[in-house]
Amino acid sequence: MPQGGEKDEVFCMKELEERILKDGGVKAGGVLKVDSFLNHQLDVGLYRKMAQEWKRLFEDCNINKILTIEASGIGLACVAGEVFGDIPVVFAKKAQSINIDGEVYSTKIESFTHKKVYDVILSRKYLTSEDHVLIIDDFLANGCALNGLIDLVSEAGATLEGIGIAIEKGFQKGGKMIRDRGIRLESLAIIDKMDDETGAITFR
Ligand code: 5GP
Repeated sequence: MPQGGEKDEVFCMKELEERILKDGGVKAGGVLKVDSFLNHQLDVGLYRKMAQEWKRLFEDCNINKILTIEASGIGLACVAGEVFGDIPVVFAKKAQSINIDGEVYSTKIESFTHKKVYDVILSRKYLTSEDHVLIIDDFLANGCALNGLIDLVSEAGATLEGIGIAIEKGFQKGGKMIRDRGIRLESLAIIDKMDDETGAITFR
């Protein structure tokens, strides 16, 4: 078992890295395509192993809820919810217009892949000050999605225990920004360099 999660130590999940090298595709603009196993066709066995790694990395935390954002985080978050002991999973919804009736928390998120700003909402019923939350998402790029999810956690007065990410693109600013805020972030694969001409991928 690889050891990880300690301060200043970079944890990586070898199997995920090997899968990225085998099946991932580097596109222009710093985009990694992993549609065949992570966010279009889903390799549930790999999802389960990723969830087990997060469970091990966050074993000292008393997590009772998983939060993610639609759409591509939901599958991973559900498998994690099961592995963490069938805890509830809640996802932030992309809304056409924000609902101002006071029943939801809301924030804005700029999408890295679609270059659009979304309003996202989360019902107040499903996140409260009693909750100890683990945020799960597939990718971390500039950190806009995570910033929005962190806003929702603070609006609710819930406790953020940490963040689990499948693939962090370490050449974009999100990972540093989150760690500089003192938030515990466990990315299972961190890519430091990608070349869309040669297809080469370098991990941290
Ligand atoms: P951020 O908000 O950190 O800039 O971007 C995170 C979100 O953008 C993720 O939820 C993911 O859906 C999407 N994303 C960012 N970079 C990539 C990428 O290289 N490939 C894919 N497939 N999605 C990405």
